[in-house]
Amino acid sequence: MLKIEHIGIAVKNIEQSNELFGKLLGAAHYKMEEVASESVKTSFFKIGESKIELLEATNDTSPIAKFIEKKGEGIHHIAYDVSDILSEMNRLKNEGFILLNATPKKGADNKLVCFLHPKSTNGVLVELCQEIKD
Ligand code: ZN
Repeated sequence: MLKIEHIGIAVKNIEQSNELFGKLLGAAHYKMEEVASESVKTSFFKIGESKIELLEATNDTSPIAKFIEKKGEGIHHIAYDVSDILSEMNRLKNEGFILLNATPKKGADNKLVCFLHPKSTNGVLVELCQEIKD
């Protein structure tokens, strides 16, 4: 793994949280993006090399809606930057981690992503992400 790419934070109202995090970080978000397949609206903030991703559910069946219902707002996942997502998925699977996707899928921010089940990672949802180069 190369570095922590971003930290995902589940929020109830992304417009309000954009303002809050803009004040907190001293810089506005640089993009918003909806990921229809995950039923989420996202926004991204840059702090040096790292990013913060805010996530708001777009419907009641969204994983973010379920997360907030269970745990409230807060840190939802930690995303690690990888250079070769397929080999990293293979390595982690062989180490006994539970992958939530058998193949990488298209995530927000021009990334291929794969999630690891929190029950195999001490309760922390882990996202692997690899930048899509065109
Ligand atoms: Zn993420």
